[in-house]
Amino acid sequence: MPKLYIVATPIGNLEDISARALRILSEADLILCEDTRNTQKILERFEIKKPLLSYHQHSKIQKIDYIIDLLKQDKNLALVSDAGTPGVSDPGNKLIESALKIFPDLEIIPIPGPCALVAAASVCDFSMDKFLFLGFPPVKNKRKKYFEEILASKYPVIFYESTYRIIKSLGEIAVLEKNSGKIRQIVVCRELTKKFETIYRGPVEKIIKELEEGVVKGEFVVVVGPSDKSDMGEVID
Ligand code: SAM
Repeated sequence: MPKLYIVATPIGNLEDISARALRILSEADLILCEDTRNTQKILERFEIKKPLLSYHQHSKIQKIDYIIDLLKQDKNLALVSDAGTPGVSDPGNKLIESALKIFPDLEIIPIPGPCALVAAASVCDFSMDKFLFLGFPPVKNKRKKYFEEILASKYPVIFYESTYRIIKSLGEIAVLEKNSGKIRQIVVCRELTKKFETIYRGPVEKIIKELEEGVVKGEFVVVVGPSDKSDMGEVID
């Protein structure tokens, strides 16, 4: 039975790749990746020579069929994404769903490693024993509902955001907070594991000000925490 390895890769710092991930990548028959240029950089850094095949969220059904054909030929495949853990706001689950329809016994093997949301959760100064992860906010419609859901949550909420919309999203939280009268503790992680890694903490207005004073650039994870530490989650004495 062929194997499909789901391999986590760094979210910035190449030193974060695991020894097991490197072994699996060098042993796989083929590596499925989002952007071959990104994955090629990792392979070159670790001197791994393997064929790459692009598989991304817009891949057509023919591509999935081709990948399934490879599995039929007993090829062992490794799936990586551009950064972090495949399947977490990244393509991957659709491929697994299609592959399992054809091979219900296919071994799907996770090779865990970096993940931006987990790295962000790990540096919070409030309990993250329980939390929600809501991926990216919608770009156009239903944004208000999305942020209302975050502020109504009894658990901390993590979401991903891009350079282009981070200030907009934090601004929308600020407006809704004013109406609710509860000011949340927020942690914004920028460029985790990279040269310009910065962690902003505090009420949303303070973070917006700090971001606007610097260069608003990079990748962001936002954690919306409690309005006071006994407000949500398990409190550790
Ligand atoms: N699968 C990835 C993971 O395991 O975290 C997430 C992929 S998602 C397409 C990309 C988003 O993750 C970025 O827009 C950003 O919100 C977040 N992200 C990825 N790398 C990051 C980093 N180094 N620092 C902060 N956020 C990051």
